Amino acid sequence: MYYPINAYRKIQLEAPYHALTNAGHISYVELDGDTAKNVDAFESIIRCMKEAGIGYGSVNHPVDRDPICGYTGVIDDVCPRCGRHEGEGISMEKLDELRKRYPGVPHFAGKT
Ligand SMILES: [Zn+2]
Repeated sequence: MYYPINAYRKIQLEAPYHALTNAGHISYVELDGDTAKNVDAFESIIRCMKEAGIGYGSVNHPVDRDPICGYTGVIDDVCPRCGRHEGEGISMEKLDELRKRYPGVPHFAGKT
């Protein structure tokens, strides 16, 4: 369920309740962009949580996974590891090359 609210405003509204709920509390902020591309904004949100008195805070953000090459992160149009678009295939030569460079590349049945 989404509610349109600015991350800083949400933190300011929820923070006072953290002092009142000593049995447990958490505030979440959900971002729709790649936090690695705007580290300053990410840090700003964390600092806002600290200064507002958030006892336990979390920042959720999108994480994609390419099932072919195993890349985990935000994938826009093209996978940064293998260079394929969603729905495209990949050559066995390229897959073998990726397996040598990245140990997490999945293996598929039928290929040894
Ligand atoms: Zn990939």
